[in-house]
Amino acid sequence: MAAVADWARTLEVDGVTLELRVERKRVKNINARLRGTTLLVSAPRWVGRAELEAGIVELARRLLRRSRAEAINREGGAVEVARRVAARFPRPPEVREVRFVTTQQARWGSYSPHTGVVRLNAALRLMPPWVLEAVVAHELAHVVHHRHSEAFWKLVRTVCRHTDRANAFLEGVSWLASAWEGLPPVERAQLVGKGPPDDPL
Ligand SMILES: [Zn+2]
Repeated sequence: MAAVADWARTLEVDGVTLELRVERKRVKNINARLRGTTLLVSAPRWVGRAELEAGIVELARRLLRRSRAEAINREGGAVEVARRVAARFPRPPEVREVRFVTTQQARWGSYSPHTGVVRLNAALRLMPPWVLEAVVAHELAHVVHHRHSEAFWKLVRTVCRHTDRANAFLEGVSWLASAWEGLPPVERAQLVGKGPPDDPL
């Protein structure tokens, strides 16, 4: 039999509607788990509701992003792309794993030569494949050149011919993401209706 929640309501986090159920229990800490779109929270009786509400959104966001990352990473596929890019390097870096992450916000990717793990911003999955390829090339090239020097860009362009186009694409994505909230509705609707740019001019 399902436990009766002390209080329940819906909660919107990162644009996802969650069913929140809170139970007061003899526990020391606030615990939360996400089952599908139901967020189950157990909390000690002494924590005030306002305090609890304030903490719940952050907890929910963390759980939601983690479960999203898990779902994405089960799909696989990106490791083959990354290995293909790595093989084009004069001295191919080893790629053991590609992990899509939902936590890094400012960065598109990273690579650790120590673990062989390429971490990619989960949004890259939804972009054209040559953009993901270019980000992988960029991160792997940092093994050879730390800074964004001329030699760095020369190497990246050698292993990925889409480099400049991908950079411009990502700049556009970043710009749109930061400007979106402030765009007047008509301009927004215009952009949404435009579709993918097969003939940009
Ligand atoms: Zn870089």
